[in-house]
Amino acid sequence: MKSLTILGSTGSIGTQALDVAKLCGFRIKALTANSRTDIIERQIREFAPEKVALADEKAAADLKVRVSDTATKVLSGREGVNECAFCGSDTVLNSIVGIAGLEPTLCAIKAGSKIALANKETLVAGGKLVIDTARENKVDILPVDSEHSAIFQSLQGCRDRKQIKKLILTASGGPFFGKTPEELETVTLEQALNHPNWSMGAKITVDSATMMNKGLELIEAAWLFDMSPDYIDIVVHRQSVVHSLVEYIDNSVIAQLGVPDMRIPIQYALTYPDRCVSSVRELKLWEYGTLTFEQPDYETFKCLKYAGEALRRGGVYPAALNAANEKANELFRNGKIRFTDIPYAVGASLEKTRNTGSYTFEDITETDKCVRSETEDLFA
Ligand code: NAD
Ligand code: MG
Repeated sequence: MKSLTILGSTGSIGTQALDVAKLCGFRIKALTANSRTDIIERQIREFAPEKVALADEKAAADLKVRVSDTATKVLSGREGVNECAFCGSDTVLNSIVGIAGLEPTLCAIKAGSKIALANKETLVAGGKLVIDTARENKVDILPVDSEHSAIFQSLQGCRDRKQIKKLILTASGGPFFGKTPEELETVTLEQALNHPNWSMGAKITVDSATMMNKGLELIEAAWLFDMSPDYIDIVVHRQSVVHSLVEYIDNSVIAQLGVPDMRIPIQYALTYPDRCVSSVRELKLWEYGTLTFEQPDYETFKCLKYAGEALRRGGVYPAALNAANEKANELFRNGKIRFTDIPYAVGASLEKTRNTGSYTFEDITETDKCVRSETEDLFA
């Protein structure tokens, strides 16, 4: 039985990953989360992991008491999460939200575990560092993000990457597609959280509304598939059925389709190169009737444009872009700023002169800290 560790097991991806793990027969070695003691206690009782860690020290102390009758060891803080990531599972699925996932990803790679990666901020902020560390340790990074899983699946059978012409990422467009910049000025958090096709955590749902999610995915795709942004197109596809495509030099286009349900890409990352029976419902194309494709509006959804710009500049620019977005997204969710302040903050993070060359882990964390504080100051 293969072992699996899930980082961020209480979240939207984490709980779905546990469903898949149960169906496909993985042994759960370790679980981590931030602070949800109630959910993780239930998971400990059901999956009996060797270790769990809560990043929040107080929550971890509480959990220790609650599960003292079990054999599971409870760890705490950043070190505890890193220790779980480093536990030597066959696979580590990282579904932590945000930059907090970067260090655990590096720990899991160094332990030689296969990585199933949902935590896209990891690749956005520290792409070169993560990919180089994975290469050095001969570790595979398998995409969980649905678009990247679709590209990965569409690349199976490609024997020479020179035959790839471009990658085509699909975007749902989020709840505000078609709105004018003026209309976006007054949208509410409740409207932003109402995604048409996917049920996800709050941060990524807001990222989908600003279309920053697609910007982050552009950077993620560039690193995962070693492609220049000039060869990655974005097309708005409102139904989220065609999850992404690969165009080859003979102009043949291969796509992966399915109902919008994250358990499909999660499962493929865990069972690759095999496939197994899934609990997700079949795609019945006639239920959709029409599938539509449109150009994205880079002027109304400026975050998309800024992400391409950060990727082209390189160095710590993508880390700065990510930090500004994480902070502004959080301020918007806390009712402190308007929806349109998010692209404003992201654009402002690119106005500073920053390192465009090579960087270390410390450079990334320093940039992250500094840009978060600059972003807060913008609205003080
Ligand atoms: P979520 O908010 O539902 O869950 C996040 C998880 O991370 C929780 O378990 C939480 O406890 C943990 N966490 C938060 N802060 C932490 C910290 N400081 N230290 C340790 N753990 C921490 O988020 P989600 O929607 O499951 O998304 C997770 C990741 O997957 C994100 O990077 C997101 O972009 C990506 N993703 C999500 C979906 C989706 O359908 N939800 C799809 C594609 C990609
Ligand atoms: Mg996605």
